[in-house]
Amino acid sequence: MRDDIPTVTFASGITVPAIGIGTWKMGEDAANVANEIRSIQAAIDLGIRVVDTAEMYADGASEKIVGAAIEGRRDEVFLVSKVYPWNASVSGVQQACERSLTRLGTEQIDLYLLHWRGDIALEETVAGMETLRERGLIKSWGVSNFDVEDMQELLAIPGGENCAANQVLYNADRRGIEFDLLPWHQQHAMPLMAYSPLGQGELLRHPEVIRLAKAYQASPAQVALAFVLERDNVLAIPKTAKPERVAELLATLDLDITDEDWAEFDRAFTPPSRKVPLETI
Ligand code: NDP
Repeated sequence: MRDDIPTVTFASGITVPAIGIGTWKMGEDAANVANEIRSIQAAIDLGIRVVDTAEMYADGASEKIVGAAIEGRRDEVFLVSKVYPWNASVSGVQQACERSLTRLGTEQIDLYLLHWRGDIALEETVAGMETLRERGLIKSWGVSNFDVEDMQELLAIPGGENCAANQVLYNADRRGIEFDLLPWHQQHAMPLMAYSPLGQGELLRHPEVIRLAKAYQASPAQVALAFVLERDNVLAIPKTAKPERVAELLATLDLDITDEDWAEFDRAFTPPSRKVPLETI
């Protein structure tokens, strides 16, 4: 197990490695299930703690795969799941969380996120999340796909200050959050979870990513992940269903790209110079 993984710290004081593993698309094809479970287990073996899933993914089948992967080793994992916005009422979120816990085969989720903002008032969702916390079904709660204004609104609601994290799209090709949302998170010392850090695989075919990878005898995936890990307070959750790729992703930590090379990289992937509304997938 590697002990040199950068970390992020939640307001609760819990510190986790800044690389986790995502599980979207897992559970969609029975032929891949064994490898998907092995991938998650390989990640945990190598020191990854955060496993990210959602009730949405494969209609709950992703949560079942996570449950199978962490059976007997629940204590090694920081488990993240998400509730659909239309289930995020005070009572709806209790039922959705209970269903997720059953699929995950555990009694508590470490971090439970509102997947995106919907029509239910934030006050109601916060009340529902706080009730889950009081019941011990979740350790903490947060949000996903929230822009700066949403975060400001959330924090003004009673209990809203207990939001532990926000999970958003962030990779070299989607840098809009660097203008305002990422600095906001750093000022509030609230971890930002970066989803699709590999640009869902597409970014790995970009000529500049390939160029930098070749220059460092690294893989494009390592360059894409290294870009995200350069930022403080950011937790990246790349997804792979290929167990051998987990070690490749972790080996990103051996990659030390110079400031000059990052500056060159910035010419291909220009940082934002003004507000860009939060992009989502
Ligand atoms: P990623 O950017 O993590 O890319 C995943 C893709 O990259 C897969 O096709 C994977 O294929 C491929 N890949 C992984 N490692 C390598 C490698 N070493 N070399 C080449 N290809 C590789 O995309 P995701 O959209 O999956 O984002 C990650 C996670 O973030 C999700 O799984 C989910 O948990 C979360 N998410 C959250 C959202 C939200 O709204 N909150 C939205 C989107 C994602 P393979 O599996 O075959 O290795």
